[in-house]
Amino acid sequence: MGWRSRCRERPNIGERVAGLRRGRASRQCPPPLSRSFTLRLAVLFAAFVVVAGSAAAQPLGGEHRLLYEAAGQVSPERQHATIARLVGFGTRHTLSDTTSPTRGIGAARRWVASEFAAISKDCGGCLTVETPSEIATNKRIPKPTEVMDVLAIQRGATDPERVIVISGHLDSRVSDVMNATAEAPGANDDGSGTAAVIEAARVLSKHRFPATLVFAVLSGEEQGLNGGHVLADYASAHGWRVEADLNNDIIGNTEGMGGVRDNTHVRVFSEGTRTTETGAEADKRRYNGGEVDSPSRNLARFMDRLADQYLTNLDVVMVYRTDRFSRGGDQVEMLKAGYPAVRLTEASENYTRQHQDLRVENGIRYGDVIEGVDFPYLAQVTRLNVITMAALASAPAPPTGVAIEGAVTPDTTIKWTPSPDAAAYRAWWRSTTDPQWRFSRQSPAPGAMVLKGVNIDDFFFGVSAISPEGFESPVVFPGPSGTFEREPPAKPPTP
Ligand SMILES: [Zn+2]
Repeated sequence: MGWRSRCRERPNIGERVAGLRRGRASRQCPPPLSRSFTLRLAVLFAAFVVVAGSAAAQPLGGEHRLLYEAAGQVSPERQHATIARLVGFGTRHTLSDTTSPTRGIGAARRWVASEFAAISKDCGGCLTVETPSEIATNKRIPKPTEVMDVLAIQRGATDPERVIVISGHLDSRVSDVMNATAEAPGANDDGSGTAAVIEAARVLSKHRFPATLVFAVLSGEEQGLNGGHVLADYASAHGWRVEADLNNDIIGNTEGMGGVRDNTHVRVFSEGTRTTETGAEADKRRYNGGEVDSPSRNLARFMDRLADQYLTNLDVVMVYRTDRFSRGGDQVEMLKAGYPAVRLTEASENYTRQHQDLRVENGIRYGDVIEGVDFPYLAQVTRLNVITMAALASAPAPPTGVAIEGAVTPDTTIKWTPSPDAAAYRAWWRSTTDPQWRFSRQSPAPGAMVLKGVNIDDFFFGVSAISPEGFESPVVFPGPSGTFEREPPAKPPTP
């Protein structure tokens, strides 16, 4: 985040709701300055940074053309065509017909697989299409039913077991969650997420990355997050080191309840502490901090910075929750398996368009129809996914073995395990009440850095890894609270 990001022209959602401006976004933009004066200010600021020992936040590893290019390749027209096709299957309910060539979940998932196959053909076979499934039964799946995901896997060039996932769910529903035959267009929930996954595959398959990308179209979400569970099991069985699951669920509507219109924000939900944290780890964390620094949370911070740097008119609203209040999504199954995961959802949901029978009642049109999707907005949210995946997959793995020491001294030492993939490391710190990493300094040596005069009691610390090209990983908070590594560790891949 550069200095120009310190003021904001658009208040974020929370501020508008509360009618307040405070915290990071509390500084109103000054009146526009002349270009030469702005330039002089920038030079002055840069000089200050050097003199002050480079304590101010830096952009994420510089600026990368790849990310602008990838963002520019996302097409709202193609996403419209994708959702129109999905709606055309009538219903995509998990318990719907699997044999019809035109209607139901079976036809829909075969179509998704054929789209992935076509994208793969265009990139010389760069995608492998897999359809893992499990037989599920629960209170919303009364008789044993095969829940099948459709995955397209773009194998990483140098570190293929390191995996970045984007997911959305294919299944749809109406008012009665057990109704598998009524028209359930599911244009936004979650045709929008599915269209983001397919479009991300189209765009990113044109590039090569060190890490593996997985484009995941899940099913069974509405019946109990079954597809998320299938994905987590598949990842675990294949020894994937999942660095991130970006779960996109309900990302295309901009008309909220009560006349709210918002096409410039997207919510990124992230858990504060790891689902898999042990009791002993929780005891230490309660004492020394780490309540707001799970790997998923630092992934959300990473996305917030990327949006500020690379996207116009789309700001990330970090929500310090695993999901919406008392509601769920497929990322929950990935979190349970020990993998970092976030949920993306539009800024302002419209409940007359979710999980509803198609009908008009008291002049209100209910139902999740394609007219409720704002395609330029959906494309923006898709761009955020695309640049996040490209940035993560281009950067080294987040540092491991991160620890800090310095109690009863004026300095803080931050340590980590050096990796051959990283050309450099950057220590980050922030006040314990700051939402975003604020200060940083590049480490002169691999493995450890002493922050002179920075008192360990007063800040939270982390470290990121930087590739030779300047791509920077998310920041890793010390210890089990912040590690991106899975606990228990991933098994070696099955052949
Ligand atoms: Zn959904």
